Amino acid sequence: MGGRLRTIEDLGDLGGKRILVRCDFNVPLQDGRITEDFRIRATAPTIRELLAAGATLVLCSHLGRPKGAPDTTYSLAPVADRLGEVLDREVRRVDGVTGPAVTDAVEAAGPGDVVLLENLRFDPGEESNDPAFADALASLAEAYVDDAFGAAHRAHASVVGVAERLPSAAGRLMQREVDVLSKLRDDPDEPFVAILGGAKVSDKLGAVNALLQSIDALLVGGAMAFSFLAVQGAEVGRSLVEPDRYDDVREALANAEARGVLIQLPEDVVVAAEAAVDARRETVRADAIPRGMIGLDVGPRTVEEFARTLADAKTVLWNGPMGMFELEPFAAGTRGVAMAVAGVDAFTVVGGGDSVAALAKLGLTDSVDHVSTGGGASLEFIEGRELPGLAVLTEPA
Ligand code: ADP
Ligand code: MG
Repeated sequence: MGGRLRTIEDLGDLGGKRILVRCDFNVPLQDGRITEDFRIRATAPTIRELLAAGATLVLCSHLGRPKGAPDTTYSLAPVADRLGEVLDREVRRVDGVTGPAVTDAVEAAGPGDVVLLENLRFDPGEESNDPAFADALASLAEAYVDDAFGAAHRAHASVVGVAERLPSAAGRLMQREVDVLSKLRDDPDEPFVAILGGAKVSDKLGAVNALLQSIDALLVGGAMAFSFLAVQGAEVGRSLVEPDRYDDVREALANAEARGVLIQLPEDVVVAAEAAVDARRETVRADAIPRGMIGLDVGPRTVEEFARTLADAKTVLWNGPMGMFELEPFAAGTRGVAMAVAGVDAFTVVGGGDSVAALAKLGLTDSVDHVSTGGGASLEFIEGRELPGLAVLTEPA
């Protein structure tokens, strides 16, 4: 895992150079409006620094999951507008990813100008890392800066292909993500407490097993807690479980016990017959959920117990909401844990699209030390896996 991540300094004098910057503008949209612009604001310092150095910028990103063809639902037009406001300068969006219109717009741009390409995933060559598509992207610039940590675990053309073709380096956001997550993975101050939640235990088992090497306690909430509760014989009603992963959950529990890691599961949960805002709610014991009911949030006692464990922590990692927080009646557990994380005197890191959205909704983003822009990428990093987008920016050790 050794090796040095190349940074902007490695690219030398940027005055008059055209730089392709891979950003992560994959923001949540609702009816064509951006509901959360955290990722746009997070990459702005890199863009400002490159502009101040006299570069001409060609920005690119994916947004959502278009199927390899133009689809106006996923146009970066709202991003261009928002980014223009954040930077307080014109952002010229071109209506394509490659082709003559793009080349013309890029050639017409000069130092201090910002050109934004359309959604990279409008071209099937992006996800397949097609050599011709990577060539076309690389031909737009003389150097490449990658600030899209959230895409670093994908071997796509704009992440890997372009970096192989141009002098390449990590942007400031990418650098900070790697610094913070390396500290968490390699040298966390103890006690180190991790909080995992979210919908699918299968998404998080890799992280659980990796974290068990270094954490002192794991607090489990969200739907993934029900698979943990179920293997211990609890009645979980109709809560979301993944029985095909029960063996892995049992193994994780045994692993934790062998290592003396405390695994704390919910004691009480908020249940309803349906995941709906107007459903009748009830708080019940986590091991005795009535038949037919679904666990949709952790209860107040659980929040209290989790907060008690967190109070002693020196390092905290939180990924995944404690319940179906998108529906207000089931948001209290996530809110309570977010407040506990924000309040603890420790190095606190929050990752995961939904956890970050929950934190932002509460106005607590500035109360934690680091908000990771990468959900899947941050977990894979902590698991110790090689991220193709980082490997290509790293000098051999
Ligand atoms: P993150 O994006 O922070 O990594 P995930 O994507 O893993 O988080 O999980 C977020 C999703 O988990 C949310 O849509 C939330 O509604 C869902 N979720 C959390 N708890 C429950 C639950 N008890 N039942 C059903 N879904 C849940
Ligand atoms: Mg998510």
